[in-house]
Amino acid sequence: MNETDSERIMHIFFSNGFFEADSPLCADVIILNSCSVREKAEQKMMSLLGRMLKQKRLNPALRVGLCGCTVQKDPDAILRKFPGLDFAFGTFDIPECFEIYEKSLDKPCYEISPEPHHSLDKIRNYSRRHNHKAFVTIMEGCDNFCSYCIIPYVRGRERSRPAESILKEIEMLIQGGAKEITLLGQNVNSYSYKGLEFPGLLEEIALIDGLSRLRFITSHPRDTGEKLFTSMSRHENICRSIHLPFQSGSDRILCLMNRGYTHDGYLGKVEILKDYISDIVITTDVIVGFPGETEQDFNDTMRMIEEVRFWGAFSFRYSIRYPSKAALMDDDVPENEKLRRLYMLQKRQNEITMDYNREFVGKSQRVLVDGKSKKSPDFFTGKNEYNITVNFRTDNTGYCLSVGDFADVRIERYSNSSLIGSLL
Ligand code: SAH
Ligand code: SF4
Repeated sequence: MNETDSERIMHIFFSNGFFEADSPLCADVIILNSCSVREKAEQKMMSLLGRMLKQKRLNPALRVGLCGCTVQKDPDAILRKFPGLDFAFGTFDIPECFEIYEKSLDKPCYEISPEPHHSLDKIRNYSRRHNHKAFVTIMEGCDNFCSYCIIPYVRGRERSRPAESILKEIEMLIQGGAKEITLLGQNVNSYSYKGLEFPGLLEEIALIDGLSRLRFITSHPRDTGEKLFTSMSRHENICRSIHLPFQSGSDRILCLMNRGYTHDGYLGKVEILKDYISDIVITTDVIVGFPGETEQDFNDTMRMIEEVRFWGAFSFRYSIRYPSKAALMDDDVPENEKLRRLYMLQKRQNEITMDYNREFVGKSQRVLVDGKSKKSPDFFTGKNEYNITVNFRTDNTGYCLSVGDFADVRIERYSNSSLIGSLL
């Protein structure tokens, strides 16, 4: 979501005559789009902002702006901490970002609206970094109030975008060369517009001519079920992968987190999903060290990792986020214990990912080419249908693949993050 917001900001500046600088060192304007979902992201942003503001000493004409969730959360604290900031705008003020920047040429300008004040059509994104794949926002905001999470406070209540506007945008993207579309929302499953729910929307999009791959993030396990699985299994172009954050394997912690499902409830849904789509690849998010998490609770989380056999997991140490409800609870798991649990979880998940990847060896995978690999220029890189990165070599030296082509690749090796092979 932040990436797509950055693209929207970029577009607004481009249409006002700006272009992308080769490096922040030669920029006239720098805008940091911040994320406050976890403490670490916020700390990184603060230190980067400090460095950018120092750069102003060398180039006084430079304008530095800040936007995103961190400003939304506590504008006064941020502005007090960074008095050198030229301009700031909130998550709901992106359409006005250029005017805010222009006002800052006279004096610092900060506009942070507490509530959304634009129709969701305004969230349409006109310039993208790639032609061959694109994110398309279908809803914004969240009403779930998971007790650890700041998002409902900084992104507002759930709002679904009109279906016609989504379909039209995707058709235009396909005409412009898009092969893969990823639908975006804090909780895509709660999409609802004039009686059209998410599974129905997904099917309407899947039927658009010329769409090769359709993905979506993020799904809330509570709102995920057979209707969605049926829609997914009906269309070849809906990719057989799903990101389904479980957060904790302990029923007690899930209840404290206000997630609305149990360990067995989650597992039950995964079983049904596997009945519909036997080769489904599932990824997840997990938090360790939530207030009051005992060794037994953590063992239940580790059990979930074994039972589901995720392809991958984004795992995080719990961090206090004001004004979420959990911020009132005692953050009583010591930091070194959180780190130990995180290490154990990541170590085991890594082994599972390696086992998973080993199973691809010898198989052919259809890859949507993203370009040459940055790490090794002899290789191309792209994603297979399951959203797994595939790096591959072309033996035929005269063969030239382009970004956005599909390539059939035979998998020969693997690492914990990618598959490696040769063009067939
Ligand atoms: N809408 C998504 C989550 C978005 S936030 C969903 O419902 O799953 C991305 C991830 O950050 C979450 O899934 C969670 O694992 C993690 N996260 C959120 N708040 C956190 C906190 N206070 N401490 C640690 N991790 C957190
Ligand atoms: Fe945060 Fe929960 Fe909403 Fe996801 S569903 S954005 S974790 S409150």
